[in-house]
Amino acid sequence: MKNSYSNIFTFNKKNLKKTINCLNNGDVAALPTETVYGIGGNAYKKSSIKKIFKLKGRPKSNPLIIHYFNLDKAKNDIVLNDYFLKLYKNFCPGPITFVLKKKAKSKIQPLASAKLKTIAVRFPKHKIIRSILKKINFPLAMPSANKSNKVSPINALDVFEDFKNKIKIIINGGRSKIGIESTVIDLTNFPTILRPGIINKNSIEKVLKLKMKQKFENKKIKSPGMMKRHYSPGIPVLINQNKHDKKSAFMYLGNKYKNNKNFFSMSKRSNLDEAAYNLYKIFRIIKKKGYKKIQINKIPKIGAGIAINDRIKKASNFK
Ligand code: AMP
Ligand code: MG
Repeated sequence: MKNSYSNIFTFNKKNLKKTINCLNNGDVAALPTETVYGIGGNAYKKSSIKKIFKLKGRPKSNPLIIHYFNLDKAKNDIVLNDYFLKLYKNFCPGPITFVLKKKAKSKIQPLASAKLKTIAVRFPKHKIIRSILKKINFPLAMPSANKSNKVSPINALDVFEDFKNKIKIIINGGRSKIGIESTVIDLTNFPTILRPGIINKNSIEKVLKLKMKQKFENKKIKSPGMMKRHYSPGIPVLINQNKHDKKSAFMYLGNKYKNNKNFFSMSKRSNLDEAAYNLYKIFRIIKKKGYKKIQINKIPKIGAGIAINDRIKKASNFK
């Protein structure tokens, strides 16, 4: 099997060096994070950013998240504010992305942030990405390592499936612990969640001691990741389903239908964090088994269920 995956590498000293050389040379690499895998490139270098957009087939209007080792490394690029500092202290490194005003002197490529005056920044927790971010002297622009609009990858083979040998280095860091994308919060004005994630509204409100609106449910596209069709497994997805149509794959919480091969439990103990962790894995399994359609039972809109509903709603816009 070695030859067919000649671009998937285990993480060791030699391959860390190889990855850093690759990034220093302006090339891109697929790297694990605790949310999903990303394709990272030098956020200060135009050609690296161009490569990322081209590989993904991502519209230029959809800005990239910029990843840093810590706040110290981000200080030249972002305008700090109290909301951010509080959230940073509580949740970073971790699965949360902050939209902040960009400093005039920032070297972030305008293309990376879709020419906006703001940038989205994140401080990921996964130890592999942190060891890379620590050793390079530029931040990484890093969207999820999937073709635009498709399901995010949660392991190295998922990345290979979309890109084959088009990415020279895919670092194998095991399965992403969270399994869905980061929470995105706009802090340029009153805090607003643009994309729900595992760090949820309640826990953010507790830290900031305020109440937010569920803006991401609005029709208006404020953040391009809120585009209507996204996270698509490539076959139609129907949500809030009560009755199995006898031939589709049916996703649900619990263990009720364990003897029926067409039923896929997202969490046997109905735990919503676990269901989020399994969401994309089950999408891929169902697609590979050749089903033509996915039905999903109603998922409660609490905790991680809010993020799950956001992703499956967008997946359901596939026609
Ligand atoms: P992805 O990299 O695929 O996880 O998607 C990145 C998400 O961050 C998308 O929803 C983007 O629209 C959002 N994002 C990145 N930069 C900004 C920004 N400056 N303002 C608002 N949203 C942003
Ligand atoms: Mg993405």
